[in-house]
Amino acid sequence: MQHESQEKPRLNAFPIFMRVEGEVVAIVGSGDEALAKARLLGQSSASLRIVAKNAEPALLDFIARHRAVHVEADYAHEHLEGAVMVFAATADETLDTRIVADARRMGIPVNAVDRPELCDFFTPALVNRAPLAVAIGTEGAGPVLAQMIRARIDQMLSPSLGALAGLAASFRDAAETLLPRGNPRRRFWSDFFSGPTARAVAAGNLSLAHDAATELLLSRTPAVGHIALVGAGPGAEDLLTLRAQRLLMDADVIVFDALVPEAVVAMGRRDAERMPVGKRKGCHSKSQSEINTLLVALGREGRRVVRLKSGDPLVFGRAGEEMAALRDAGISYEVVPGVTAAFAAAADFELPLTLRGVTSSMVFTTGHDLKGGTLPDWAKLAISGATVAVYMGRSVAAEVAGRLIESGLSPDTAVAVVENASLSNRRRFHGTLADLPSLEARRDLSGPVMTIIGDAVAGANFDRSEALVAQKPTVFGQDEALVSAAEGKAR
Ligand code: SAH
Repeated sequence: MQHESQEKPRLNAFPIFMRVEGEVVAIVGSGDEALAKARLLGQSSASLRIVAKNAEPALLDFIARHRAVHVEADYAHEHLEGAVMVFAATADETLDTRIVADARRMGIPVNAVDRPELCDFFTPALVNRAPLAVAIGTEGAGPVLAQMIRARIDQMLSPSLGALAGLAASFRDAAETLLPRGNPRRRFWSDFFSGPTARAVAAGNLSLAHDAATELLLSRTPAVGHIALVGAGPGAEDLLTLRAQRLLMDADVIVFDALVPEAVVAMGRRDAERMPVGKRKGCHSKSQSEINTLLVALGREGRRVVRLKSGDPLVFGRAGEEMAALRDAGISYEVVPGVTAAFAAAADFELPLTLRGVTSSMVFTTGHDLKGGTLPDWAKLAISGATVAVYMGRSVAAEVAGRLIESGLSPDTAVAVVENASLSNRRRFHGTLADLPSLEARRDLSGPVMTIIGDAVAGANFDRSEALVAQKPTVFGQDEALVSAAEGKAR
């Protein structure tokens, strides 16, 4: 698989949501720092104990409005007694350090303002749609960044979300009683949060929302299976379409090929079952007919399946066979296009696939059909100037070059090769058709490789590409050119 080799950095602080209802949270400090924490915690139903001998007016005002407990005394460790969380916010380093030590001795997690090294926990930037909350953390590294992200998420989430989540809470028991666990229950909730109920809440009509939710709950029909054949794109997870992402978030099962990167599979719903079906050279994998059977069976079980294929599902993806099997079995399906490898490779090379005055057609091929005695039609297109994108072409590179040259395409025709298109570890190579055979013997390419051949390739940007063959072979005749290219690869 084309996983990035470097490991993902891990979180040193793990986000959780802690129950504070009715619990005491102690904040020590009289000024702005204490007020900021008081405001943050004031969004919860914790009972605030503010230890401030000479509280500033704004803090006094907060205490009055929130009916917080005000301890008007010099700090003493007894003030932390019974608290579940402590904030040292005195702006006095020595005192904060003492508070931290006291809290730790008493076994209470503590946060010291602006002293990440003294913190047992960090406070997030918070988007509050109670009971729903989005907390953004940077482990103390970038509060400004956290605030910027907070502002963006705040814009994205409708103010009515809180009310919707509240309504959901009031339906939870009923849903658990009436709907079997798993699929039906999950489907109810996904309709609840996206259908008429959500729309009624957004329109401010809670009683209509309540009716819509009740109807949804009582009118549950058995789940109908559905298979989405989804293009995962060439590898980069942000080249996935929004529709693909939505389906992934809603899937019961994700059936994926080896070429689909883990990062894309990981974008699926957390509880979705993940089924790799291989299709990798040298690894055990399911046969195409086993995959067809699997999809049909999942559909019959009433599951929502995302069948993830690399690139576009309809380009060398054997989607035709899967669709035929689903049609025969009467199972509903849809196709979601993806960015095919040829497009990703062209983008990586800034290569115009059609070029005004140069070429106006393009060919998607595997080159594997060149092995037979007769030249396939696409070879004629290539000779007449079409841009040719060769999928799975590494092992037939010499065949492709040889046959095309033999049939009259100039050995000087430009060629661009991209390994791992769209990924950060991609490699780009340029050369001519005469250089192409060298690809077959390269041992340094382990990822998927896309080859693009044609005059339009000359319009690409070669600033970031390596020569396909270190030294250009001299072209004596076509055969010699291939031989000398083959020698080039041995170096
Ligand atoms: N359905 C896929 C193609 C599957 S065939 C699509 O539309 O892209 C597999 C071939 O696709 C590989 O052998 C390789 O030629 C090409 N390919 C897939 N991902 C690629 C990538 N990231 N970079 C270069 N080529 C890729």
